[in-house]
Amino acid sequence: MAAAIEAARRGLSVLLADEQTAPGGQLRKQIHKFFGSRRHYAGIRGFRIAESLEAECDAANVEMLFPATVFSLDGRTAGLVHRGRTLIVEAADIVIATGAREKPVCFPGWTKPGIMTVGALQTLMNVHRVLPGRKCVVIGSGNAGLVAAHQLLLAGASVEAVVEAGAAIGGYAVHANKILREGVPIHLGCTIAEATGGGPLEKVRISRSGGGDFFVETECVAIAAGFRPNDDLRRFARGEADEPRIGVVGDADRVEEASIALEQGRLAGMRSALRSGRLDQAEFDREQEAAERALAALRLPRGDHPAAQAGRIAAPAAAGKRIPVIRCRERIACDPCVGKCPAGAIVKTDGPGSPPRLEAERCTGCGLCAASCPGQAITLVGASAADKSAAVTVPFERCPLPELGQTWTGVSETGAPVCGVLVERIEERAAYDGTALVTVRAPRERAAEIAGIRRMA
Ligand SMILES: Cc1cc2nc3c(=O)[nH]c(=O)nc-3n(C[C@H](O)[C@H](O)[C@H](O)COP(=O)(O)OP(=O)(O)OC[C@H]3O[C@@H](n4cnc5c(N)ncnc54)[C@H](O)[C@@H]3O)c2cc1C
Ligand code: SF4
Ligand code: SF4
Repeated sequence: MAAAIEAARRGLSVLLADEQTAPGGQLRKQIHKFFGSRRHYAGIRGFRIAESLEAECDAANVEMLFPATVFSLDGRTAGLVHRGRTLIVEAADIVIATGAREKPVCFPGWTKPGIMTVGALQTLMNVHRVLPGRKCVVIGSGNAGLVAAHQLLLAGASVEAVVEAGAAIGGYAVHANKILREGVPIHLGCTIAEATGGGPLEKVRISRSGGGDFFVETECVAIAAGFRPNDDLRRFARGEADEPRIGVVGDADRVEEASIALEQGRLAGMRSALRSGRLDQAEFDREQEAAERALAALRLPRGDHPAAQAGRIAAPAAAGKRIPVIRCRERIACDPCVGKCPAGAIVKTDGPGSPPRLEAERCTGCGLCAASCPGQAITLVGASAADKSAAVTVPFERCPLPELGQTWTGVSETGAPVCGVLVERIEERAAYDGTALVTVRAPRERAAEIAGIRRMA
């Protein structure tokens, strides 16, 4: 879609074909707010990014054909099947953006109903609104597995376990912490050895690499064991004399993230415009330089940022004023906290990959940063003027919302219980886009430790 928009905006006639019934690829299935910078629709839920790209395609007069499966490429002649009809389309340029395939994990019993890949789970749950089980287990702690586990919780399922064969959690800490705070166990060095049940799935046997098996009851297993490029069409095209006029972008080239696919797509569209004389070389060079800068930031090596401010705000702010506590220390090219702050109180001084820094004196306590952070890594703390308590405001997306006057448990960044808290305020605003801000009363000396709230059984 990004390629189509850039090419069509510059006057090229563009046909966008996708085998699904609506455009957007994986974005259509994502209900969470995305990481990234404003350039990549950061802080916006995936399906809304897809809708916005579709509107941009419409505005640029991109011809969209759904469902239309491209089954062959012969040079720059594509064969398509659309609603039972075969179409042959010749193009000056072709951009292949066919996404990824999911890698399966096989174990005895893996064909039982209820066991599926994470993409299938997201299609069922987030597109068709069908929950495949009340109790679920996720294989894989990369970002896809962690995000799916969180989405299962939002859909009302209980995630009994995330099972990870490696010795460390694969995805971003902020994604892992979201499910740890909800009490989901992540079992490292473990794999599913067997799925059992007379008919449907009833239990999985989980095997530890160091020895020792245990059973977990579940109705669904979601496999998030990695992806590989869906590159069949690319292989058709390989070796063609005019191969340079056939671009491959996004996951079809290398499986990365949506923001990277968007950058690559934009560049591919501009490259087509350049070749057809609709874009001059100087403008293309400028755009390419900006895209390369953005891609470099998006591909920063993983790990904690040495200059991260997280955890430094150890004590609540002055009485009466609530200010953010930011728990974001990894190098993630992300900046909704900066972009949404109306007071300019959160800054990233060295590009989107640098850590967010709070300039507390400017903060008005509006809460927009906490509601917009895709990692739910920001809370607000305000000390009471009257006693030794503090108000702690946490982002909350599960249903049902807590009720005023209820006692919940305040939990740490990684889900350890901190103390009992009393629910005293719930803010739901259009600007928070489906994330409620729940304010609880807690002892002042524990307030900065509280990163979320959980209802203990
Ligand atoms: C299950 C899953 C979950 C993911 N979750 C996230 C996430 O939460 N955040 C994130 O940043 N990244 C995520 N990704 C990574 C993904 O790289 C990006 O989100 C992004 O969607 C990649 O864009 P793309 O256009 O390359 O591929 P896709 O979004 O997958 O789009 C490819 C499209 O091509 C269509 N297609 C394929 N073959 C044909 C054909 N022969 N004819 C016609 N149409 C065809 C497909 O139906 C699909 O609509 C996820 C990937 C997967 C597989
Ligand atoms: S609470 Fe509001 S003013 Fe303060 S840093 Fe967050 S967004 Fe900015
Ligand atoms: S704190 Fe800011 S940079 Fe960190 S994940 Fe949240 S929005 Fe992104």
